[in-house]
Amino acid sequence: MTRESGGYLAICATPIGNMGDISQRILDELEAADAIYAEDTRVTRKLLARFGISTQVRRCDENVTNRMIPQMIEEISGGAKIAFVSDAGTPCISDPGQRVVAAVREAGLDVTVIPGPNAALTALAGSGFSCKSFFFGGFLPRKAGERERTLRSLESLDAALIFYESNHRTYDALKTIAQVFPERRVCMARELTKLHEEYLIGSTQEVAASLADRAESLKGEVTIVIEPPARGGKAADAGDLRGQIAARAEELLAEGNAKPSEIAKALALEFGIAKGEAYDIVQELKDSSE
Ligand code: SAM
Repeated sequence: MTRESGGYLAICATPIGNMGDISQRILDELEAADAIYAEDTRVTRKLLARFGISTQVRRCDENVTNRMIPQMIEEISGGAKIAFVSDAGTPCISDPGQRVVAAVREAGLDVTVIPGPNAALTALAGSGFSCKSFFFGGFLPRKAGERERTLRSLESLDAALIFYESNHRTYDALKTIAQVFPERRVCMARELTKLHEEYLIGSTQEVAASLADRAESLKGEVTIVIEPPARGGKAADAGDLRGQIAARAEELLAEGNAKPSEIAKALALEFGIAKGEAYDIVQELKDSSE
């Protein structure tokens, strides 16, 4: 079935804090829809009021989704354009919506997604960590033991690790992260796109320690990004890693347009090692080639 032939479901992403992030396409879709199914009708009505949209809104939170799906399918089958929005961001990403999409597809009906804001990708982009590959883990388990097990199971993954976290569990989560990943950096991204947007980036211990006296008072929404392991991750032993760093240092020295201190800085960032250690490697290479 194609969209031209009639009804369809449009999954619509909404801002994660800044209303300016709404897109024209989303507004057009919400306005043209016959009905909007919303995770939180209050939030959605506010959004619609702000943009002067009067489409009817139906409650479709976790508790009523199963009940609403048959009605939605009936409407779409009859030719209706149905929009689905979650509380904020991209529906289906740690949000209701996935069950709706699966059921509508199962019924052989058309689904389209209108992309927009998403906290996980916003935090990853803002972290400055390698984005070559990443793992999104949703919310970390609440219990410390389970949280640690989850993180340990991801130790050897050669990817940035992204998690959603509630503000009042952020400090505890960062303490576990520091325990499991003492050699990595972490980014605590809070209130993204909002007035009090904050990125705290540093070694896992530094970031955990710097939140110690704000543990109880930390406000707003938080996304945590853990840097990927230094090349090769845990699998690479220290010797291999030093060899990789030396090889990269050689490349940079051969380019001939950066000072040893600049090369050391670049290596420290790329491999997540101390600048002094990187400088020693560069200096050793320089000495042996003279
Ligand atoms: N579907 C949404 C998305 O696309 O980002 C995520 C929904 S999930 C229920 C909500 C969680 O996302 C929050 O608890 C927080 O961890 C993260 N989050 C949402 N908005 C955020 C923001 N403005 N800054 C940082 N994290 C945010």
